[in-house]
Amino acid sequence: MGSITLGRRSHQTGRILTAALVTLLTGVCLVGLWATYALRQAYEQEAEGRAQAEACLAARRLVASIGSATDITTLSLSPPLLPPNFSVAVALYDRSGRRTATAYDGPAAQTLPLPERLVLEPGRDDAEQATRLSGGEWLAVVPVHAATNTPVGMLGVVVRHRTFRLSAMVIRLAYELPFWLAVAAAAFWLVRYATAPSRTLTGTADGRAPTPTASVEAVMAGYQAVIDRLQSAGRELERLRSAAETRVVEQAQFSDRLVASIPDALIVTAADGTVVLANLAAQQLFGRSSGSDYRTFFAEAPELAAMVANSLADGSVRRKAELEVVLAGHRRTLDVSVSPIPGAASVLCLAANITELAALRATMQAKETLTSVGELAAGIAHEFKNSLATIDGYARLLAQDAAPSPAATALRAEVRRLTQVVTDFLTFARPKRIIFAPVNLAETASEVAATLEDIVVQRGITLDIARDLPTVPGDAALLRQVLENLLRNAIEAIPDDAPIKRVVLRAETGPTETTLLVEDSGSGLPPEVIQNLFVPFFTTKQQGHGLGLAIVRKIVVGHNGRIAASNLPQGGAQFRVVLPLRVFATT
Ligand code: ADP
Repeated sequence: MGSITLGRRSHQTGRILTAALVTLLTGVCLVGLWATYALRQAYEQEAEGRAQAEACLAARRLVASIGSATDITTLSLSPPLLPPNFSVAVALYDRSGRRTATAYDGPAAQTLPLPERLVLEPGRDDAEQATRLSGGEWLAVVPVHAATNTPVGMLGVVVRHRTFRLSAMVIRLAYELPFWLAVAAAAFWLVRYATAPSRTLTGTADGRAPTPTASVEAVMAGYQAVIDRLQSAGRELERLRSAAETRVVEQAQFSDRLVASIPDALIVTAADGTVVLANLAAQQLFGRSSGSDYRTFFAEAPELAAMVANSLADGSVRRKAELEVVLAGHRRTLDVSVSPIPGAASVLCLAANITELAALRATMQAKETLTSVGELAAGIAHEFKNSLATIDGYARLLAQDAAPSPAATALRAEVRRLTQVVTDFLTFARPKRIIFAPVNLAETASEVAATLEDIVVQRGITLDIARDLPTVPGDAALLRQVLENLLRNAIEAIPDDAPIKRVVLRAETGPTETTLLVEDSGSGLPPEVIQNLFVPFFTTKQQGHGLGLAIVRKIVVGHNGRIAASNLPQGGAQFRVVLPLRVFATT
């Protein structure tokens, strides 16, 4: 707005000028004071003297008017004794000093202080006495003599100069008022100077002293700028407060969502034992919500309650990898940890439900045990197979003799059967690495059919193999074993007197996998057989060893496939082998 701030020099100049002005004024006042004081003194002296003289004069006149009379009990003030600006009160006193007569003249003369009694001072019986009563008031006492010149009483005259007080007041005002005005002005200036909020003055751009309007505008502008800055700071503070509030709310919501989304049970117990937080997983697992005592919350898991109690008592961390509990009638395995929350006087309990994991772990351990037992058995079977080969050699030598022994023939047959059992067992027990290559199932099935041709013809069975069997990735020898075992079982399941003797091998091929179907017109699968079909060494046959289907399932699973069996509506059994058309894993 085109204003400048005057420097320290301008400010000092103003102060010097003001001080000089105050000094000048004070000097003028002091001179005036002295002059009027002198004037007053002169006036008062003159007025006092006049009052005294008038009082004495009036007293003498009265005494003269009394003359030599002996009766002095009456007084008359006519004609007037004194000039108009005097009031007078007169009293006669007898020789004993008692007042015997009074007379007044002039305004407010009744108020003049006439003494009740008068006593002449000894030795001054013949002289008048004048006494000043107050400013402008005088008492004159004159003895009254008889004709014999004997004093018979006294005359007291009190005179008041009527304008004396008013004049004295006017004069006092005249010389004191300017003085007090100057003192008040100086005091006002000092107070204002001392309490001024800022020592800087504003001036116009051209350096001239600021006018009152310019100063007010400058002050107003300054205040407005301060108010604007305060308002701006207030708005910024409000924005920051709002942002902080939003951040706190968002963080609280995020924490709530985080806690709620944790799949493990999370429980926070305060120092007084109250469960202050239990997420959804905890509520579902323990069937309770927060707000209750931890002993109530963990009523079905007393060991966990004890861990919380201990942690609350000594601030220690407690862990149990597999805690067995029964919650709502279900056996559960929990992985729990209880730890104090630093600075919060409460403990955090985390409980993961690892029931399935624990079961899986147990299964794996059992499998490992079985595997090691199986490997042991496989080792023994291998040795057993070597011995069987030796026995078979000796039996063959016996059979080659001139007179063939039926016992030797039977021995050889039994050795062959045992050898087959051991071979099958070794196939089942010893893991064989599958080398994937395209396997034309149609060709494989033809080879199997050729192998089974004798038994098929012998049993009078029709073996119907579809021509559209697909090519799948796999191990040709193992897949051949799958088809042979399934087709041989199907052929063996058909009784000799069955009305229809038929075995079918066909495929239902989809985009990603093919299902091989082996169907027969046999007696079907009783429920107890279906349950144990793939269990090693389960057999219902007199000469069977129960490893065929176990080997089939192992090979199929090794090819990332699956196998199932069921009965056909028209009778007979159906085995379904599902094989993927693409390799997605190797074993
Ligand atoms: P094994 O042939 O030596 O008995 P497998 O594991 O091949 O051993 O077969 C187990 C049992 O499954 C057989 O004993 C038989 O009772 C039953 N089984 C297998 N295939 C069929 C089928 N197609 N029809 C009826 N039962 C079958």
